[in-house]
Amino acid sequence: PIVNVTEETGVVECTFAIIKPDAMRKGFAAQIKHRILADGFHILQERQLQLSTDIAQEFYAEHLGKPFFEKLTNFMSSGPVTAMVLSRVNAIKAWRSLMGPTNPVAAAEQFPNSLRALYGDKENTTMNATHGSDARLSAQREIKFFFPKRPIFPAPTHQQSHEYIQA
Ligand code: GDP
Ligand code: MG
Repeated sequence: PIVNVTEETGVVECTFAIIKPDAMRKGFAAQIKHRILADGFHILQERQLQLSTDIAQEFYAEHLGKPFFEKLTNFMSSGPVTAMVLSRVNAIKAWRSLMGPTNPVAAAEQFPNSLRALYGDKENTTMNATHGSDARLSAQREIKFFFPKRPIFPAPTHQQSHEYIQA
């Protein structure tokens, strides 16, 4: 992935985010984007689209064979989603932490202000409002999957000069 090293702030990374169909349907997209910006992320790319079940299965290929795979991919293709490239210092961890744990019940218990606690469905782990990449490699793959045309660079921060590194 392409990372941007700044001397004082650490590593500016890109990560990939989805506002899932449940949160879109319930009208939470604006609040979620507000939290993203308030947490210091830049939204570098954004598109709204509906996935086919085939595309959802390809996106979640790592979960093929798991008990929740079919439910997950049917759900992810059930309505529009918002796909975004986010950048920030330590974006991958920061976005996972803003989302909270996978299960909305656990999220509510442990991190009541997290997005999955606030906007996920407590009766159904599948409908947990957001997706986030879990590592540099998956972020790179997922960004390319949804934004194949453009190379993604982290947004510059105002602090100082930047050195771009392609790892
Ligand atoms: P994430 O990285 O936190 O999104 O979690 P995973 O990569 O493990 O799972 C992908 C998605 O599958 C989750 O965000 C949930 O939507 C769904 N999921 C994961 N585990 C379960 C589960 O145990 N039950 C159900 N119903 N859905 C799950
Ligand atoms: Mg995951």
